[in-house]
Parts: sequence; C-alpha cells; structure tokens
Amino acid sequence: MNRFDTFAMLDWSGGNDTGARPCRDAIWLGVTRDGVDEAPTYLRNRAEAEAALVALIAAELAAGRRLLIGVDFPFGFPAGFARGLTGCDNPFAVWDWLETVIEDAPGGNNRFDVAGEINGRFPGVGPFWFNGVKKREIAGLPRKDTRAGHGMTERRAAEARAKGAFTCWQMGGAGAVGGQVLTGLPVLNRLRRRFYGQVSVWPFEVLDKPVALVEIWPGLINAAVKPLGEIRDAHQVRLMARALARLPQDQLAEMLAVDAPEEGWILGLGYEAALIAACDDVLKPPPLRNDCFALPAGVDWTPVDDALELLQDRLRPVVGQTRAPLAQALGRVLAAPVTALRANPPEANTAVDGYGFAHASLTAGDQTLPLVEGRAAAGVPYPDSVPPGHAVRVLTGAALPEGVDTVILQEDVTLGAGRIAFRAGLKPGANTRRAGEDVAADAPVLAPGRVITPADLALCAAVGVADLPVHEQLRVAVISTGDELVEAGHPARPGQIYDANRPMLLGLVGQMGYAPLDLGRIADDRAALRAALDRAAENSDAILTSGGASSGDEDHVSALLNEAGAMAEWRIALKPGRPLALGLWRGVPVFGLPGNPVAALVCALIFARPALRLLSGAGWSVPQGFHVPAGFEKRKKPGRREYLRARIREGRAEVFASEGSGRISGLSWAEGLVELPDGAVTIQPGDPVRYIPYASFLSA
Ligand code: AMP
Ligand code: MG
Repeated sequence: MNRFDTFAMLDWSGGNDTGARPCRDAIWLGVTRDGVDEAPTYLRNRAEAEAALVALIAAELAAGRRLLIGVDFPFGFPAGFARGLTGCDNPFAVWDWLETVIEDAPGGNNRFDVAGEINGRFPGVGPFWFNGVKKREIAGLPRKDTRAGHGMTERRAAEARAKGAFTCWQMGGAGAVGGQVLTGLPVLNRLRRRFYGQVSVWPFEVLDKPVALVEIWPGLINAAVKPLGEIRDAHQVRLMARALARLPQDQLAEMLAVDAPEEGWILGLGYEAALIAACDDVLKPPPLRNDCFALPAGVDWTPVDDALELLQDRLRPVVGQTRAPLAQALGRVLAAPVTALRANPPEANTAVDGYGFAHASLTAGDQTLPLVEGRAAAGVPYPDSVPPGHAVRVLTGAALPEGVDTVILQEDVTLGAGRIAFRAGLKPGANTRRAGEDVAADAPVLAPGRVITPADLALCAAVGVADLPVHEQLRVAVISTGDELVEAGHPARPGQIYDANRPMLLGLVGQMGYAPLDLGRIADDRAALRAALDRAAENSDAILTSGGASSGDEDHVSALLNEAGAMAEWRIALKPGRPLALGLWRGVPVFGLPGNPVAALVCALIFARPALRLLSGAGWSVPQGFHVPAGFEKRKKPGRREYLRARIREGRAEVFASEGSGRISGLSWAEGLVELPDGAVTIQPGDPVRYIPYASFLSA
C-alpha cells in the first residue's frame, strides 16, 4: 500500500525556540496535498511542531486521506546501539527509552545530559561527543572528539552512502544531527502512541496504516534547491514534499522496499536523480481572478487611460519563477532582486599605467622618488608593501599594493636610473579607483521586473552573480478567425483574403520577447473556435485572437468568452479600434483584437502590450514618446484618442495619407504612431505632436 494522498516534509531542529519571525535553522513543515503545495509552515519550537503534526495527522485521518510524513533525522542508530542501551535489538526500545528521559521545553532541554548519560552506559568514553553547553561541563560528554573504546561504528550503513550526511553521535556544531535525534524520537514516539494502530514507521514496520513516518534527508535534492528570496529551509521542505508527491507510484514503491530492521534507512538513497527530476523547481503564481476583466457598470465608451488603469490594476504575473545562468538570461524578466555578491571593483586599483606611492611621501615642490624592484599588473599583484618615500611601477587594473594610495601617469614622469621625477600638485588618490566605488558588496544591483539587457549581464558577472532568479518565458498563442481567411501562398477564391494578422501578431509577440505559439486560422464556427481556445489555454499563458470580437452574428470570440462567463466587451474611445473582447478562457487571459489589421496592430500595441508585460512579470511601462513638430495638418473632433501611422522625416512627423483602417500598406510605411489626445485639436504644420516610435513599444 504505497499510495499516499498527502506528503509532508519535516525539517527538524534540536535547538531552542527560534522566535516569532520565520528564520532558517528552525523547524519547517512542507505539505503537498493532492498534488498541490501549501505554503511551508514555520514552527518556532518543538512543542509547536508536535501540535502541528498532531493536527495534520488528525485532519488527514478524518478526511480519509493517506499521509506520508518525511522526517530529516535518523530513526535508528548504528547496529548494536539498541542492545547496548536497552538490552534488546528493537529500535522502538530506544524510542521508548528516550521518551522517558528527554525533558524538553521551548526555552531549553536536557539533550546534552542525556547524551552524557548514554555514554556512561557504554565502555570507553562512549559514542556521543560535543558538549554544546558553554558554561557547564557535562559528565561523560567530551567537548572534543576524544571518544574511544565504545564499540559502535561511526555511521549507519545508510550514512556511509549519503554524501555529506552527519553522524548521529555529534551533538553540536553546524549541521550536527545528534541533538535532533534525541529530541525528535520522543516526539515521533508520542505520535505513534497517540494514533496507535494508525501509524507505521518505515522501514521497521509494514506500511499498512493510513499514516507513514519515513526517514528522508533533504541533502538528496540539494542540487535542485535554489530559493528565490525565500528562506532555504522553507523552500527545501516544500520541494521535498512536492518531489515525493510527484514521484511515479512504482518508483516510490521501489524506494520503500528496503531491509534495514535495526538501523533504519534514508528514503531515496540511490534515487537522487529521480527525486530531483520530480522537484520541478518552479514557483507557480496563483491563477488570475475570474472577474479580472470586469468593467464598471454603466460606462459606455471607456477612455484609453481609464482602460489602461484597469488593466494595470487587475493583472499580475502568471508565469512561474525559476533560475537561469547568465548565458540564458538575456531578455528574461527578473523575478527577485539581485544583490552584489562582491564589490566592483573588488579592491582599490590603478586606472592608468604609471607609478604608485603613498601621497604622504610627497613634499612641497617637485618630486623624485626611488623605485622599488618589480611591478603590479592586472591580476598579478605586487607581493610586498611599498615603503614610504618609494614608488612602484603599476599597470592599469592592478590592485594597489600596500603602501600605495596615489598613482601618477607614466606620461607625466621623467624616468631616471631607478627613480622617477615629476611635478608637484598631484591630489591624494589621483588616478586610482576605490574598492566598491562602482558597486558595494551586498548593494542591490537589479530590481524585479527588469528585462535583462547585455549590460545587465556585464553588471551581474562583475559583482559575482552567475545565475539569476527569472520568470519563465510568457507563452502567447495567436489565433486568426474568419471564414474569409486563407493562408498566404495558397490559391484564394473570390471573396477570400489572405490572413495578414497572424504573421504580424506572431512577429510582434516574438519581438516583445515572448514565446509565440501559432494556432492557425479558425473558421467562423463556434465548435472549432472552442477547440482552438482549449488548445491555446492548454499550451500558453495568454491568447491573442483577431476578428470576431464585436457582437455580430459571426463574432464567435466574444460569444464564446461570454458563454464562459468571464468576458467583458471593452468599448474603448480609440481610433482605429473596435470593441475589444477581453476575457478568461480556462483561466488564461484572452485578448480579442479587432479583425482589421490596422486596428489589430494599434490595439495590440496600446492594450495587449502593457497587459502582456504585466503577465510576464515585467511590470507596467508606458512607451517612450517625444514631441516633434507636425509635418501635417489635421482637425480632430473630441471624444476619442486617435493614433496615426507616422514616421519622422527631416525632423517632422509625417502621417500616412489615408486613415482607412484596412490600409495595411500604411502600417508598413509607418515607423511609429502619432498620438492625438482625447479632446478636440487642430494641428497646423510645425505644432508639436507626440510621436511614439514602434521600437518604444518593444523595449523596456
Ligand atoms: P471582424 O473583426 O472579424 O469583423 O473583421 C473585420 C475586418 O477585418 C474584416 O474586413 C475582415 O475580413 C478583416 N480581417 C479579419 N481578420 C483578418 C486577418 N487575419 N487578416 C486580414 N484581415 C482580416
Ligand atoms: Mg470576422
């Protein structure tokens, strides 16, 4: 019976209460229930941890779910220990014994005294060592490893195979587990008794009860644990619970099939790769709310700025977080702040080729200084200190030798036999770069939401950061709708037109740095469109459709989104534009763009672009425009914002001769858009107008 519904992972601690604020080296509990991770629970002391375990077991039993609890300390000791302590080989005799002698409270416990007492029952010095109590010697427990003659092996068979695992005999020091075993086993023993007949302990018992207690060691998945700003222990228990939950059934069964009746075993030894593969270390965000596209009631035509504000308000990242090495980080969206691991420059160095000395060596008037032997070059520091009154040859980038704080340019000295001569007037620190003058160690260097540029890669490398917390790349599906559409390159019958929007939108998605997914052309047929939206929702994080977004007979995009109950028709006071259909399809946001290619592109740039940025984790941004003199004349009525296809020639914005929204040639002719405000305007040649280059829509 190896099928479990709930997997919990416990990271134990033998220390005292760790305070109200979640921290590392405390007790953490991770739970994955029916495949879904819960936020890890911080448990400040063992009393709280025991209560949390009792509550968890009771809840799972009540719900009829099978629960596996992974625990990160040994369930047994090296062979022979149980007999030496209790007179029999049964590991549970050790659990019972410990439960009777361990006294444990949030403010302190007697684990070191118990270790000393156990040592007294073994020959020689006894197997335990490391008295962690500063002020008190403990009878039988040496501070240093002076053990001898106790007759126990140092490690269990399992530990001999677990690289980096500590032995159970060491009671203190970073990473020691001795104290965890002594304080942990009494807690597990009480759980066994409290839920008698409902709990089995692996590998000593057959796992035929609803709850299994299993020894497991998070060190097995170390390679996969890359916390993103989260406390490492918290991340680790979450991942381990997730990995156990995701392991294929038969693999878990195979892992559980071990024979270690006295010492116990570490679940997963030899299956590290499988566990790591099952971690899938991507932090997923919660889904978008169903009403995220709802519009305030009673609004007829929404001004562009109001519509944008609504989007900004409602949307957030929908992609998970992971890590990427620098070589794969270009164009990715940063998911957490990056701080400098080292200063830049790491040490004071010289900015020029020349000669270095202590400024205090200088006297009034012109100078001569004797040169010491040798030199300092980039990467090859001068090994000694430069005595006062002496100078040393230095090359650009060399760390300043001890005794040097100022450098004179080689062009400014006269070089004699073993001396340099130069004019007075050099300032202290001249021609040097201070350590950390660019970036101090631990200083923040990049903020979340940043789209990584080549220069950012240089910055990260310089401050010692080799991989970055990034969002997964946003996947954007593109669908064209309309009975009239045919694929370019194929024969077109009368009444048919070539699908122009799809290559345009796919190209735009790619240029914006997202992963485009081409889902083809769909006829004006509700079932076909439904199937296409299903496929898109399955494989992407956002969907762009064009055509069929109004409320006519053949406007199936809006009809379907309406049917799904999470749609809003956004009538935006914008030219060129028609109603936009915004909605969620199976939790995935759909941007139903107008069919007209000009309106489709303008709406994609003005609305889909900032929305997709938010979904990708990159945050809101306004495209950078600037004012230029108009090279045209225009009179515009109030009531809606207008975008004209435009380009700059001889310092003036020209606009495309025809405003017809079917004119694809104008889109291609243009290099940007002129934005005219919502109100009425009369524009004369030479009047300033706001021009937004296409490139502004694509960059951060
Ligand atoms: P609709 O929004 O579906 O009513 O379409 C508005 C106009 O845009 C119609 O003239 C369509 O033929 C045209 N149209 C729709 N989709 C495309 C497309 N993918 N490529 C070119 N024109 C299109
Ligand atoms: Mg249509």
